Amino acid sequence: MRSLLAGRMRGGLEFRSYVQTVDRRVVNASLPKVVVIPLAWGMMEASHPVVKPGDEVKEGQLLAKPASVMGAPLYSSVPGRVRDIVPVSLPEGEREAVILDLAGTFERRAKVRTSDWADMTPEKLWKRLFSSGVIRHGNVPLPIGRFLPPPGRKAEALVCACFSAEPWRYTEELLLDLRREAVAEGLRILVRTVMPKEVHLVVPEEERTISRLLVRDLGDPGIPVRVHHVARRYPFTSDEMLLELVGGARLTWGRLPVDEGFVIAEPSTLLAVRDAVVGGRPVLEQVVLVGGDAVQRPVLVKVRLGMPVFDLLSQEGTMLGPDADPRVFLGGPLSGREVSWLGAPLLPGVDVVTLLGRGATGGEEPCIHCSRCAQVCPRGLEPWLLHEALGRGDGRLLTGGAIEGCIGCNLCSFVCPSAIPLADRFRDYLEKEREGHGEG
Ligand code: SF4
Ligand code: SF4
Repeated sequence: MRSLLAGRMRGGLEFRSYVQTVDRRVVNASLPKVVVIPLAWGMMEASHPVVKPGDEVKEGQLLAKPASVMGAPLYSSVPGRVRDIVPVSLPEGEREAVILDLAGTFERRAKVRTSDWADMTPEKLWKRLFSSGVIRHGNVPLPIGRFLPPPGRKAEALVCACFSAEPWRYTEELLLDLRREAVAEGLRILVRTVMPKEVHLVVPEEERTISRLLVRDLGDPGIPVRVHHVARRYPFTSDEMLLELVGGARLTWGRLPVDEGFVIAEPSTLLAVRDAVVGGRPVLEQVVLVGGDAVQRPVLVKVRLGMPVFDLLSQEGTMLGPDADPRVFLGGPLSGREVSWLGAPLLPGVDVVTLLGRGATGGEEPCIHCSRCAQVCPRGLEPWLLHEALGRGDGRLLTGGAIEGCIGCNLCSFVCPSAIPLADRFRDYLEKEREGHGEG
């Protein structure tokens, strides 16, 4: 094992004053009366429903089949009756979804068994992960085909980012703390599945104990294990920054780690990997943190997949503050999306629901050239210059130029005293460019 201090990362922002104390325990949510399972979200291709309105389904029953590994099999997280299959509003737009009303009873689950996965071939493990509906968590949920190299193909490296430095987003480090041995087993399973040349563990620079324990639990995977101690600065654990940290390519807009041969997984994903292989059952639950300045006491809650946000917020133990009408973000306040429809379902990829008070916000003002946006940009860009170039349609900085290095972290917008939505404008431009090139 080698321990490395990450000195080459630049920019970013440390959110010291946003720290909240969270109980180190997971509360089980009560069962939702309605569950919403979209046929696709994040970067998944839509799956095809195999149920119809009126059908009764058991817990864990297949609801929709994927057409390829760019989608995922979707399972019922509760026993129930299919009410309808209709479009619903997700943060990224409208998607078809299976709406289930809770009905019937839970069957006794078989005891979780410890499969001897060490005897399974990498191809068999890959197929098990796919058929169990494992999806990479993270800011943009990825199906197996966009998360792992094809079955039997070796990865350059497996990277585990053990924390997020975004305000109120502690789910990954809490899960690592609470289920460290299971996270280590998830890592070992992925090592066997994708056969990387090395493993990288990325931990906060002050957390020497957790990295030592994780390395101990990981055991000897037969390849080098490198530990990187990184400052708690957002967005140092984004995929793009992690890849630069471990010596991979500079990811540009629309490229994924697996396109460069790298696999990045966070503790929540590793737990899903471990539970799918060891437990031998589809992914039906996940853990979500409820945090933010409109929450009096943040809490970790285990929910059924597809549970609507309003059910989460009405759970006992979720202590909302006096602000009865907070802004609701699926994800962190910088990387997540604000939702107005509280029927939006909780799905892999949402590790935190952030509730923020509605403080007074001013409107957009002209740029005062303070250069704060450039000081925090982790990609070394000058957002104010890019913004002016957008206004002028200056092609040198735009198509094929600096703007494609933007990773959409939102920091420039966050620090801008003129409230210019810089990151949104860059994202809109880049998405239009991709559509124009037929990649959308
Ligand atoms: S959103 Fe883009 S331009 Fe703005 S700080 Fe992040 S990487 Fe830099
Ligand atoms: S932070 Fe805002 S006001 Fe300051 S230079 Fe950047 S765009 Fe201009």
